[in-house]
Amino acid sequence: ELSKRLRCVASYVQEGVSMADIGSDHAYLPCYLVERNQITHAVAGEVVKGPFESAQRTVRERGFSDKIEVRLANGLQAIHKEDNIHTVTIAGMGGPLIAQILESGEKHLTTVERIIAQPNIHARPIREWAVNKQWKIVNEAIMKEDGKIYEIVVLERGRATYDEDELQFGPYLMREKNDVFIEKWQREANAKRNILQALQKAQKTKDNERRSEKIKQELANIEGV
Ligand code: SAM
Repeated sequence: ELSKRLRCVASYVQEGVSMADIGSDHAYLPCYLVERNQITHAVAGEVVKGPFESAQRTVRERGFSDKIEVRLANGLQAIHKEDNIHTVTIAGMGGPLIAQILESGEKHLTTVERIIAQPNIHARPIREWAVNKQWKIVNEAIMKEDGKIYEIVVLERGRATYDEDELQFGPYLMREKNDVFIEKWQREANAKRNILQALQKAQKTKDNERRSEKIKQELANIEGV
């Protein structure tokens, strides 16, 4: 059974498309999508040998070798033009790493029309990348599994602008404000309060004062939303 987190990512892959899963590890996501006949074909990209071999094994054992190509490659380099890939998924990594993978492999996105990013933490750099490269956010989700909170950001080509709060909290998520969203930002606010307390007990250096001010501002932003 695929994790709730990856099932949620899968739910944003449209019917009948081709997809590339970057950082695929065991290739569970593309296998699930092929099993359900949701996609035509897939590429599973992995940069590390161990996970690459796991992906190869899963695909072979499930008999999907004709539908899923497993490639040892860094980031979006796994995608070849001839693959005609419509949707890219990048899941289970930090937002900064996902943004960096998108940034450095941008030229491999020519056929791609939808990107589904699932950052474990710090979604903001993905939203910033999107705005800069003329992708717009068409959907977002936030969910909890085994006590951990995950965000999903779905991008399609197009221009959009977002204000500071939207970049930080997510334009869709901050409007929906569901229970998981509230829990996530309560957790973040508590972490900031703890840092603030520690800083107030620490030496009163200029640097610490600056950090305190910055955290107070961030805390006020969270409380505002
Ligand atoms: N996507 C799966 C999921 O969400 O369950 C696996 C997540 S796993 C924590 C992250 C995977 O990304 C690892 O297998 C790692 O080797 C791979 N990875 C990290 N950086 C990568 C890169 N630049 N290109 C391809 N794969 C990468």
